[in-house]
Amino acid sequence: MDLHVGPDLANDAERAAVERVIAAVGPSVVTVGERLTLGGPHRAAARRHLLLPALHALQQAAGWVSPGALNLLADALGVPPAEAYGVASFYDLFALERPANPTVVRVCDDIACRLFGTAAIDAVLTDAGLDDATRHPSPCLGVCDHGGGALVQRVGEATTCLRVAAGAATPVVEAGPLLARARGVHPTSLDAYRSTGGYGALAVAMERGADAVIEAVTASGLRGRGGAAFPTGVKWRAVADQHGRARHVVANADESEPGTFKDRTIMEEDPFALVESLTIAGFAVGAAKGWIYVRGDYPRAQDRVGAALAAARAASLLGHDVAGSGWSFDIELRSGAGAYICGEETALLNSIEGYRGEPRNKPPFPTTHGLFGLPTLVNNVETLVNVPHVLLAGPDAYRAVGTTESSGTRLFCLSGHVARPGLYELPFGVTLGALIERAGGVRDARPLQAVLLGGAAGTFVRGDRLDIELSFEGARAAGVSLGSGVVMLFDDTVDLTDTLARMARFFRDESCGQCVPCRVGTQRVVEWLQAPTADAALLDDLDAVLRDASICGLGQTATSALRSAQRAGLRIRGGAS
Ligand code: SF4
Repeated sequence: MDLHVGPDLANDAERAAVERVIAAVGPSVVTVGERLTLGGPHRAAARRHLLLPALHALQQAAGWVSPGALNLLADALGVPPAEAYGVASFYDLFALERPANPTVVRVCDDIACRLFGTAAIDAVLTDAGLDDATRHPSPCLGVCDHGGGALVQRVGEATTCLRVAAGAATPVVEAGPLLARARGVHPTSLDAYRSTGGYGALAVAMERGADAVIEAVTASGLRGRGGAAFPTGVKWRAVADQHGRARHVVANADESEPGTFKDRTIMEEDPFALVESLTIAGFAVGAAKGWIYVRGDYPRAQDRVGAALAAARAASLLGHDVAGSGWSFDIELRSGAGAYICGEETALLNSIEGYRGEPRNKPPFPTTHGLFGLPTLVNNVETLVNVPHVLLAGPDAYRAVGTTESSGTRLFCLSGHVARPGLYELPFGVTLGALIERAGGVRDARPLQAVLLGGAAGTFVRGDRLDIELSFEGARAAGVSLGSGVVMLFDDTVDLTDTLARMARFFRDESCGQCVPCRVGTQRVVEWLQAPTADAALLDDLDAVLRDASICGLGQTATSALRSAQRAGLRIRGGAS
């Protein structure tokens, strides 16, 4: 490919940052400057997947991605400059203009945190000496159990996330089988993990063989926890059956649904469980390479998963000849960069490959044409960490917990006006009322106006619908969505129109823009909510077009919460009344 890069040049710091990323993947990789001298255009183009890590390195080193740095990347990786710009401009966490301040603070103003105002997070930022930083509002940072959070980007330093201490207490983690190690076992100690049964499931998997693992997962009735509830064993079998082709396994850890923090908690509290689970998945489907794609706003989770990967590699539990089995497998950690849509599995795959994180048309599905066009298993973090429990307890014992169609436990993310916010692991089938009671009821014992189930793409129910059974079939019967396990409470003081308007802006801002119904329709929903009077026919039209003509779930569910609030007869004003 003949590239025409602009005249701007990278400085030494930017050059060094890019060199480090390229060098880190091994000596066979083309380095900056070799592209022409070693006839390396094809080798360079094959490294396009380094674009996202290199952009992170530049952002951290310089505080922005300068035109010269972008030219350098385009040249080194064989990416047309316009495409490199298209990728860099796709993500919120990359600045394409030199920042006025070397420190940027992104303060969450999404639906859970805005219930509590900014006073608490302002105090945290002041304590951290960040009064003079440049502040930006941010969509949900996945710390809703804290009631406030901010992402801090400083030139030359790793990104950090500051969290408000929720009330007087640390957010609750109420454990079942999956979360048993949370808060009680050192999260980055492999010895501690092993002493509590860790890596026992991988040994069982290798002893029984790949087919037996897939049969056990299928027999357990395990279904996806990311929102789609697809039978996990069916997906694993579809990838394993792609004989004669290289295969990939991917852990989707890009949870960005407002109100969701379950995968963050797993990765921060029990990172080895994810590493072991993905290794088992790789073994079962015959993959040689795994990927963990963690959202860019989760620096602590990235650090802990990265440490767990390094420890597993050092103990020969990853790499060549895993655990003496003769099978080779390794896992690479990838960071997202602030794009909700990358939680959609095909958008995530595009993001890893170095393209804009835009969803692909399906079919073909990732099971046959996924990462780099190869068969790929993509599973949510919570889904994966169920697998060791299935193998150790046996599928019958696993299936004995929960309900007929929903086996096992579920992680529920309790936030908003709840007395004890946090993560609760309970068997499927618990009622909404029992779950809220477990979490101490409504904060300050106020009347409960409404509950949001499943996140921004989910469903509002009235505060008196406490009889809803939280299972896949129970949710279906009640006409609600469990989604990613969000259970957000709103007491009688909340103006739900403000919440709905924030959701509408969220979808407008996070739309990838590739299809018109979503790109334009989400903006029209924002305007509809701002109108002084309701135009019911217009909303009907918008709703129908978004659902029927959008490529992916973002557009298809962008009006779900609004419509459910209307159906429930909740108190909303203006255009939404
Ligand atoms: Fe992108 Fe929206 Fe279309 Fe999904 S529905 S592909 S987010 S424009």
